[in-house]
This record gives sequence, C-alpha cells and structure tokens, in this order.
Amino acid sequence: MESRIKGTTQLLCLIGTPVGHSGSPEMHNFAFSYYGLDYAYLAFDISEAEAPAAMKALKLFNAKGFNVTMPCKNIAALEVDELSPEAKIVGACNTVVNENGRWKGYITDGTGFVLNLKEHGVQVKDQRIVICGAGGAATAIQVQCAFEGAKSISIFNGRDAFWNRAKETAGKLKIEKPDCKVTVCCSDEKEAFETAVCQADIFINGTSVGMKPNENATVIDASLFRPDLVVCDVVYNPRETRMMREAREAGCRQVIGGEGMLLWQGAAAFRLWTGKEYPVEEYRAWKARL
Ligand code: NAD
Repeated sequence: MESRIKGTTQLLCLIGTPVGHSGSPEMHNFAFSYYGLDYAYLAFDISEAEAPAAMKALKLFNAKGFNVTMPCKNIAALEVDELSPEAKIVGACNTVVNENGRWKGYITDGTGFVLNLKEHGVQVKDQRIVICGAGGAATAIQVQCAFEGAKSISIFNGRDAFWNRAKETAGKLKIEKPDCKVTVCCSDEKEAFETAVCQADIFINGTSVGMKPNENATVIDASLFRPDLVVCDVVYNPRETRMMREAREAGCRQVIGGEGMLLWQGAAAFRLWTGKEYPVEEYRAWKARL
C-alpha cells in the first residue's frame, strides 16, 4: 500500500459521522491497487455543520471525488455544483465526482439496489413493486426503480417524520416518470397492503425494521409470501433478517439481502470516479482469504 502513495496520488474519501466502521476505504483501495490507479481513499469524521467546509477543502485539494454518509447526504446535495436527475429527486447525494473542478453529486444507493437484483437475475423493468419505507434508502430505491422502468411502485409507511417525504417523492416521480404509477399508503391500511403485495412482483423492506438489535421485527406477515414473489431487504445486519428467513421458508423465488446492495452502491461510485467496472469477484475472493 505505502509504495502506491506518491506525490501525484489523488485523494478520494468518505465524509460523515461515524465513519470508523466503514468498509469503503478497504473496498476502494483494493480496486485502486488492482487496476494500478494512482488514487488513495480515506475516511474523515465530519459533522453536518462541518460538511460545507470539508467540501471546500476537498475542492482545494483537487480530490477526485468523495462519498457522503449520514448525516451529511442532504447538505452535500445542497453544496454541490450540479446534481444527477436521480439525486435531485431524492434530495441527497452519497457520491460526488470532480468534473473539471466542479462537484457533481450522484446517489448510488438505488443503483446499488438495482445492480444487486441484476446479479440475482431479477430485472426491475415492467415490474410491480411494493416497498415499505420512505427514508434515505427507500427513497433512493423508489427513484431508481422508476428510472429503470418499473411498472408501479406502492409505497407503505407509517405517519411518522418520513410520511411527507413519501408523498413528495410520489409527486416528483409523477412529473419525471409519468409511466410509473406511484402510490402512497399508510402501513396500517391492512387491506390495501395485502392487495398490493398479492399483485406485486417484488416486495422490498426499505425500513430499518429487522435490523439489530430488533432482529425479531418484520414489516410483513409471512402468510403473504408466495413462490413467485421476489423479496428484498435493505437491512444488512443481520445478513439474513427474520423477513428473509420467512420468505426463504415460504419458497419465494428470490430472497435478496442488503449486503449486496452495499457492495454494488460502492461499485457504482467506483465506476463514476474511474469509468471502470469494480472487480467484484476478485474483491470477494480476496475478502474470503483474509
Ligand atoms: P432512515 O432513518 O432514513 O429511514 C428509516 C425508515 O424506517 C423510515 O421509512 C421509517 O418510517 C422506517 N421505520 C423506522 N422504524 C420503524 C418502525 N419501528 N416501524 C416501521 N417503520 C419504521 O434510514 P435509512 O438510511 O433509510 O436506513 C434504513 C435501513 O436501510 C437501515 O437498516 C440501514 O442500515 C439500511 N441501509 C442499507 C443500505 C445498503 O446498502 N444495504 C444503504 C442504506 C441504508
């Protein structure tokens, strides 16, 4: 690693807090080494209030780009010079690229979700999707699925702090992607939920329900699972959530966890910075040997 760092090495990094647990430095530095790219990736603990100054400094350092994690994703979207159409609708960005001295912000969480499905042989185009959640991860997925040509997206969320966001996303997608029918219902509308799931091709938990330490929680009754339904979770800790286990036991045709989404959102960021495909198989093999 040290022999790779030279006077010419360009910086990439992650900003947000906390960042100490992040797998991104390892993931990206592996691929920079793999391709012999003259870049290095670090993680900086940056609060939301510090984000504008950090972004200014990174521009001064001529950084190649950076990732943004919580709680800086929304402020970063306000501070960049330009946003991708998807990031504009989501109102957040997790990947920023130095494009000739200007910051362009992207959101790769949704791309990561779609690429993860693709790896499992599942397409989003023309599919009827039901998704629980209206937070950061769920919104990015909703927007990306609409851009990928999903037939319909039924959003279910409680009337909490995220409820209005669901309504806003549906309103924006109605204008940007009118061919995709987006509806919003409250999670306590039991009948509407059951009908939507019965008619769906893909069911997604986009909430934090089922995440450690509340592993026994699930957003859906297992009786609604059927063999031709694809079931996906954004939660990656635990690797297999209660919902995923119940879907697997019910024989659902694909049960896809959040771990792959995490890897593929990084791969999408890598492609934006370098124009190269992330060496996913090589990285997995290297990790397995550690
Ligand atoms: P967020 O705080 O932005 O949104 C939380 C969502 O969960 C909201 O829709 C909220 O209504 C819902 N929610 C929370 N508690 C609930 C409860 N008790 N009952 C019903 N709904 C509830 O969070 P986020 O950043 O969107 O993250 C959500 C989950 O997705 C987390 O588990 C996170 O680790 C995971 N995530 C995974 C990836 C990945 O790459 N796999 C990426 C981002 C987030």
